[in-house]
Amino acid sequence: MKMNEFMWKEEFSNKIEELEVPGNWDLHVDMNLEKQKTGLIYTQQTFGSFRCSRCARSWNSSKVSVLFIINLNKRHGTVKMRIFKQGCERFTRHEEMIPTVTSDNIERVVCNLVHKIRRKFYEVNDQYQDQKPKIYGPLEGLHNKERCEACRHGLCEQQILSCEYEQNREQRESVAPAVLTVMGLVTGVASIALMYFANK
Ligand SMILES: [Zn+2]
Ligand SMILES: [Zn+2]
Repeated sequence: MKMNEFMWKEEFSNKIEELEVPGNWDLHVDMNLEKQKTGLIYTQQTFGSFRCSRCARSWNSSKVSVLFIINLNKRHGTVKMRIFKQGCERFTRHEEMIPTVTSDNIERVVCNLVHKIRRKFYEVNDQYQDQKPKIYGPLEGLHNKERCEACRHGLCEQQILSCEYEQNREQRESVAPAVLTVMGLVTGVASIALMYFANK
């Protein structure tokens, strides 16, 4: 079973154009992609549905993880992506399935991705808020960690909706904004705590 690479690529080039990202950007799917030392690592979770090729059982998950590794070399940007599979719980040793993601969820993930590219590589300062996935149909009760490829790669638990890891030493980024963000968060949490106790 193959994923619909064409839809992802097309959505990506549409968004790059629509949001007027400079340079040439392309997106490739690599189903063996791993975290690596260079590039901006960015992950998201979306909603997808699975169908077992053996027993035809189907299930939905809102923990479909997508990993992106983003690099910009002069004017040429490259995004590699991997979508993580899940296995059917009726079989112990079993091929894992690629999820089907609807076009509007692909659009949301890609929109978040391209906004991330604009902020990180072109210092665009917008008020964009990441879009959450659209949920279609009932979700499975508990997330089955053993049957989730992303869990085995340590990608599922550390994210709520999307996150990034800064690993690119070549990137022109100062530490100051990150420190300010952390300080801001600490101050925020402290003031919420104070408010909480003040009301007690
Ligand atoms: Zn099955
Ligand atoms: Zn998982």
